[in-house]
Amino acid sequence: MGLCNSAKEKEEEEGGDTVIAYNHKKKRASEIRINGRAIEVRRFGDWQVWRELDHEPNWAEVANIIPESCILLDGFIPDDKDIEEWLFGEELCESVDGCTVEVDGTCPHGFPSWLIALGIA
Ligand SMILES: [Zn+2]
Repeated sequence: MGLCNSAKEKEEEEGGDTVIAYNHKKKRASEIRINGRAIEVRRFGDWQVWRELDHEPNWAEVANIIPESCILLDGFIPDDKDIEEWLFGEELCESVDGCTVEVDGTCPHGFPSWLIALGIA
């Protein structure tokens, strides 16, 4: 892709076009994005290519490809700073769908805290 570094950084700062993929069987969440023809995933660190298609997919297609136990949610994966605050803060944390829960809790909608979904708690 012809993006210069600053444009790339800007895209990452703004979050770009990403969603959260939550696997309710495994109680694990990751961040997912479409990058050209690739579907990329990350939890910690760098993006990894999960699937590469022969065309550029849209989100409806991505929703069809992901495992049945996964659902797509709006939102962002927490960064290191968020995680640190939740680990060393007041024992409250955000759930995968954005509710406030205890660090090892689950919200009324059935989504666990991010610390659980990231495998930290
Ligand atoms: Zn909730």
